[in-house]
Amino acid sequence: MQMIYSAQEMNRTIQQLKEKGQTIGFVPTMGYLHEGHQSLIRHAKAMCDIVVLSIFVNPAQFGPNEDFETYPRDIKRDKIIAEKEGVNIVFNPNVDEMYPLGESMLVTVKDRVDVLCGSSRPGHFDGVATILVKLFNIVMPDKVFFGLKDAQQVAVVDSMIKNFHYPIQLVPCQTIREKDGLAKSSRNIRLSSDERKEAVHLYQGLKEGLLLVNKGERSAAHIKSQVTLYLETHLRLGKIDYVEVLGYPDLQSKELLNGRFIIACAVQYEHARLIDNIVANVNNKLEGEPYAANINEK
Ligand code: AMP
Repeated sequence: MQMIYSAQEMNRTIQQLKEKGQTIGFVPTMGYLHEGHQSLIRHAKAMCDIVVLSIFVNPAQFGPNEDFETYPRDIKRDKIIAEKEGVNIVFNPNVDEMYPLGESMLVTVKDRVDVLCGSSRPGHFDGVATILVKLFNIVMPDKVFFGLKDAQQVAVVDSMIKNFHYPIQLVPCQTIREKDGLAKSSRNIRLSSDERKEAVHLYQGLKEGLLLVNKGERSAAHIKSQVTLYLETHLRLGKIDYVEVLGYPDLQSKELLNGRFIIACAVQYEHARLIDNIVANVNNKLEGEPYAANINEK
């Protein structure tokens, strides 16, 4: 496994691989790897010749009062996991390498960001899109792998690829969960043991919503109110940031659900903000989606 720290070397290496006809799968992460990241790597390994994993905690996507400084980092451990998963190249630049001129030029995202984390974290998706433009230009991947755990991010990347004409296929991958249903996240280690026990209710609440849809309920407002009620009843330590039921991937509000939709929530704990969601389709009675290869299918 090759470690690369410079954008120029990364780009040169990719060009050489492409000249040899190799296809490039790219998994962008902020590190502190867990099974969620590992599943993206496995999808990439199955679909591409070369897997590039980036590890970069991107300052531009954190708000002033968010956890950029304290975001968990452990590159030694990450390298061991990446090596074990068969990653070919780890790209691990520092902030000066990725922002040589500081934040003097940023991408502005207007589409799909007026709801969910886009509205509670202003500027977050501008930071995400900015770093992805840089990374896509450097890594020039054929396919990129993103987790549906961050379903709004998947929707924004989908729009970004179309807006900027990137010849890249987006592969959204299923959310990987702990045995009790909590979505795996680098931030879970920040939960106290009582918060950790309580956090199981995020997914339980979302599943209550899905159950209603599977029973034939189509009113987004009703599903939202039932999921909210569930969370209000079961959360004592966490504070609900939002519960939303929207069309997916356009993230438009809908009176009645049809086709693909998302039920999403965010909950603030003392040292960690957790998000979770279920993306499903009213046309197939699904327990969430096992693997959403084409997010635009109706
Ligand atoms: P992060 O390091 O948190 O920025 O995440 C990097 C990538 O891993 C993103 O595409 C995330 O959506 C994905 N990811 C994070 N957690 C999970 C999970 N539990 N299941 C699947 N993918 C995940």
